[in-house]
Amino acid sequence: MWRMVSGWIYLAAAALVSLAAYLSGAQPAFAGILFALSVLAILLRSGEETQSSRPAVAAESVAAEEVEGTGQVVAAVLNAIDLPVFVLGRDAALRDQNPAAEKAFGALEPGLHISARFRSPGVLDMVRETIATDEPNQIEHSERLPSERVYIVRSSPLHIEGAKEDLFLLSFKDISELRRIDRMRSDFVANASHELRTPLASLRGFIETMQGPARGDPKAQERFLTIMLEQANRMSRLVDDLLSLSRLELKAHLAPDQMVDLVPVIGHVRDSLAPLAAELDVEIRLHMPQEKVEVLGDRDELVQVFENLIENACKYGQEGKTVDVHVRNPGGGSVEVSVIDHGPGIPSEHVPRLTERFYRVSVTDSRSKKGTGLGLAIVKHILTRHRARLIVKSEIDQGTEFTVRF
Ligand code: ADP
Repeated sequence: MWRMVSGWIYLAAAALVSLAAYLSGAQPAFAGILFALSVLAILLRSGEETQSSRPAVAAESVAAEEVEGTGQVVAAVLNAIDLPVFVLGRDAALRDQNPAAEKAFGALEPGLHISARFRSPGVLDMVRETIATDEPNQIEHSERLPSERVYIVRSSPLHIEGAKEDLFLLSFKDISELRRIDRMRSDFVANASHELRTPLASLRGFIETMQGPARGDPKAQERFLTIMLEQANRMSRLVDDLLSLSRLELKAHLAPDQMVDLVPVIGHVRDSLAPLAAELDVEIRLHMPQEKVEVLGDRDELVQVFENLIENACKYGQEGKTVDVHVRNPGGGSVEVSVIDHGPGIPSEHVPRLTERFYRVSVTDSRSKKGTGLGLAIVKHILTRHRARLIVKSEIDQGTEFTVRF
């Protein structure tokens, strides 16, 4: 607009100069030439002006576009990541929060001071320090409600060149699951060592007795050697089960890819458990169709599953005298195998924990029956790899039914 106005002023000035030249006696042609030259000079000048003013305006708008663009990229990244993140100003008040933060901590009003949501002195001191020093920091922080969670909270400056104000990010990495796995692992190591230490202590005790008080007593030595062999066998059963579990863990993500007919598998398990069943005076009855019942699986692992279930039914349901195994094809592509005993049953509070490692309803009962407490944990691992489920139904004094559904 100003450029247009100034153009008219220049034109008027050129006309005045030419008129003055004409009035002062110059030739009309000369005045005309003077007028044309003035107009040309004005046009060139205004062109120069336009050219010199254009880059300044463009640079300004490019910078503004860049800042806006960077802001948009930051916002898009914050929206996309699943880590809860809050954006704070230098006053430690909230400027923004991403959807993950909203999900984890609720929607907070922009402008709210961060201490209104996180009262922990650790978090607040850290934010304060990052704002004062412009250096990133992190601490561990736990929240009790609505459920116990542990986070690594990190505060870091967010530099966007040309932005209106300094911004800071407060991010929360949830490590509750890692902590739980850590705890499980250390519990497992403690349990496994304890299970191994018990027979080891017993072996050492017998060796010492045989070297000392029972040195010249062959009868006592004979008795002790029998117990020692039992303890050594117990240790090897435990080591075998532990190795079995760790092998299964290694291939947990690989789904089995062979077709296995369950009818001969279960027949084989019944045959291999026949001596135990006879010893316990239990009859294993099979109820299976004539035709093949195939599932996608690993034969050896399926043998291990049904060996564990049928052996448990014989051992813990011994007083029921019979164990029934049903193989069914209920349709819809599913296959079910149920192992039913008619023993004392399992109190309902124990049922959800049976597949935990080393979990037993009665430790002495399990030990006296040569149990390791790992059988059902192994079963669960194998079934998970087979995308199959284990369903347990039990009634006190009636018996227990373990069903595998493929
Ligand atoms: P274990 O080596 O002790 O047999 P498992 O993991 O196979 O370990 O089983 C865990 C516990 O579940 C057993 O100690 C036992 O208390 C209980 N249990 C398993 N099967 C039965 C069953 N058929 N009847 C009653 N209790 C059972």
